[in-house]
Amino acid sequence: MTSDRPGDPTRALLKRLIARASVTPDDAGCCDILAAELAPLGFQAHAFDADGVRNLWLRRGTRAPLFVFAGHTDVVPPGPEARWSSPPFSPTERDGCLYGRGAADMKSGLAAMVTAVQRLLADGHEPAGSIAFLLTSDEEGPARFGTRHVMEQLRAMNVRPDYAIVGEASSVDKLGDRIMIGRRGSLNLQLTVDGRQGHVAYPHRVDNPIHRLSRALAALADERWDEGDRDFPPTSFQVSNVGGGTGANNVVPGSAWAQCNFRHSPASPAAEIRRRAEALIARHCADYDAEWQVSGDPFVTPRGRLSQAAAASIQTVTGLDPALSTAGGTSDARFIAPAGTQVIEIGPINASIHQIDEHVRLADLDPLARIYEGVLRRLLVEEPA
Ligand SMILES: [Zn+2]
Repeated sequence: MTSDRPGDPTRALLKRLIARASVTPDDAGCCDILAAELAPLGFQAHAFDADGVRNLWLRRGTRAPLFVFAGHTDVVPPGPEARWSSPPFSPTERDGCLYGRGAADMKSGLAAMVTAVQRLLADGHEPAGSIAFLLTSDEEGPARFGTRHVMEQLRAMNVRPDYAIVGEASSVDKLGDRIMIGRRGSLNLQLTVDGRQGHVAYPHRVDNPIHRLSRALAALADERWDEGDRDFPPTSFQVSNVGGGTGANNVVPGSAWAQCNFRHSPASPAAEIRRRAEALIARHCADYDAEWQVSGDPFVTPRGRLSQAAAASIQTVTGLDPALSTAGGTSDARFIAPAGTQVIEIGPINASIHQIDEHVRLADLDPLARIYEGVLRRLLVEEPA
């Protein structure tokens, strides 16, 4: 491969981005760098800044389908700079890698998306559809005024992306070995059980809430919520914290509590888990209070044109047959999927993200851009087979 050549435009652009200390939610001028690359290609910029967050929507063309590259310019704090082998915001090449905060998460994704589009349009072939970039500086932070906000604004403007690639570091051991096609949901439960306080020597005068809570938690832990499916493991329940008691060993307390979390697949929606869980709890607890909090809804992009185009492009560029996965934590794809958009994540190896000495393999940069370009060509240039 020729990816290591000094003139690699993805590498050059990535270095300019890493040199910006865009610690969340500070964009530090990254959006302007990307917009300046895209403006000469006919991309129209629309700012959706909100609450100190820089959001930029850049679109080229008005025709359907609408293909979106989505990504964040913000990075997590570097941590103690003295522990870095080279300064975190001075992009440094060493041992075949480029080091710097954001090198993998996810400035290499952003750089490769831009050079992919530059290359696609360089041959003068007009794509059969529109291409857009959805950029935000609030992914690593609260993520309240970033991609979610932009998707709300787009919906108000009746803009619905058909396809989206988020450039998060999705690969495990080799570039392209994994595509993320969805995520499990996360549902929190704060359960408080009331009983009747009293002396442990007089069991007929007490109603022990710890006993009731224990039985309820055991029932929740033993429940088979669903069987999982091809894309998701079975829904899981875990207790994370539990408490109760007065501190004295001869007193039954008046109440006890537990904090629990469900990681669930679309097969078991949050409302369904709630209904079933409360029925189990009510069997063991006469007097309880259940507080529920959805921290993320599950989603999956069904196998279709986008995942096929992505797998084919990865196969062509790397020779690998990517695994389609829903593992791991959240990403901004969760805010794009509800629009009905086919959304997946493709990016570099994620081993060093958020760590000291974050890096990306230099030899992966040009192939990543070619993977993105190949997806665009398959969806917007070549006729469907
Ligand atoms: Zn990221």
